[in-house]
Amino acid sequence: MKKALVTGGAGFLGSHLSRRLLDDGYEVTAVDNLYTGSMKNIDRLLENPRFSFLQHDIVRPFDGEYDEIYNLACPASPIHYQNSPVETTLTCVMGMHNVLERARATGAKVLHASTSEIYGDPMVHPQVEAYRGNVNTVGIRSCYDEGKRCAETLASDYRRVYGVDVRLVRIFNTYGPRMHPNDGRVISNFIVQALRNEDLTIYGDGSQTRSFQYSDDLIDAMRLYMDKPRAEIDKFFDEKNLEVPVLNTGNPGEYTIATLAKEILRLIPESKSKIAMRPLPSDDPRRRKPDITLAKELLGWEPRVPLAEGLEKTIAYFRERILDSDE
Ligand code: NAD
Ligand code: UDP
Repeated sequence: MKKALVTGGAGFLGSHLSRRLLDDGYEVTAVDNLYTGSMKNIDRLLENPRFSFLQHDIVRPFDGEYDEIYNLACPASPIHYQNSPVETTLTCVMGMHNVLERARATGAKVLHASTSEIYGDPMVHPQVEAYRGNVNTVGIRSCYDEGKRCAETLASDYRRVYGVDVRLVRIFNTYGPRMHPNDGRVISNFIVQALRNEDLTIYGDGSQTRSFQYSDDLIDAMRLYMDKPRAEIDKFFDEKNLEVPVLNTGNPGEYTIATLAKEILRLIPESKSKIAMRPLPSDDPRRRKPDITLAKELLGWEPRVPLAEGLEKTIAYFRERILDSDE
């Protein structure tokens, strides 16, 4: 039986990935310091004897023999990473170092959750993997953006110097059930606000864009990517003149934040919420949309869940969760 380690396994995406790995027959260990994660996300998984949970901060080294390590530990919502900026950079860099050392010691494959944020406020649209980005090194988002960029650098050098089998996935805005109601990202904020009849808070004038991927689509891509034989991966990226295996995953549908707010209100017709404009945080990227040509070619993958369908599933989750907690 294959053994997988999922760092950040009690978080939104880590819990979905852990569940999928269990369904695929793996023995799964989730490691998490519960900064933004929650035991509630994994309560059902804990009933499975092939699942175990370790409360640990990956900034400190850890043991264990694994075939595959999925490195997802890191707060992903701007509000949360900006509340603990030093810990965020250290998680990205020291955490990645500890993951890579474990892989080097045991021969595990590593799939690292990088981000579209490494493109910063992009000057190239849509963003292709070869684009090097436009990132502020000293702003309020830098702890995350530069931390994630440095993690990519470490992963690339462990691959070149020690031959570690590392695959990088640059994830564009992903949403779905099991996001925390106080996560702070736009989709969970708008849905929770609409369900509570509070005004939807649009930052800036709402003309900035994002592309929203449903969680199941991302997990499909991650599993397909990890399952590809290394020789096939190396040949593919070599032919594309990319030094390391790095893939965008996201849904190329691009929406303004104002349109997203309207769509969520359309899907929650009983809501009495209105729109409230708030100041735009600094360094907020103007627009974002993935070019997913490489993922389509390498994995035969593309997102299947349209925005309205993904939002409906996410709304259903929050309806239940909020009714529970408001009672
Ligand atoms: P999340 O905040 O729900 O999950 C992150 C998890 O990591 C949490 O459970 C948290 O407690 C844990 N964690 C944080 N620091 C840790 C540390 N030092 N040691 C151990 N555990 C730690 O966020 P998510 O959306 O599930 O994101 C998962 C990963 O995917 C992150 O690395 C994030 O950067 C990346 N990502 C997510 C998105 C997205 O839109 N969801 C986009 C790009 C990249
Ligand atoms: N945003 C917003 N209202 C909110 C939360 C976010 O208008 O309540 C905006 C935010 O300024 C950004 C976009 O929505 O332009 C996406 O924000 P999120 O925090 O979800 O992710 P980001 O892509 O910025 O990391």
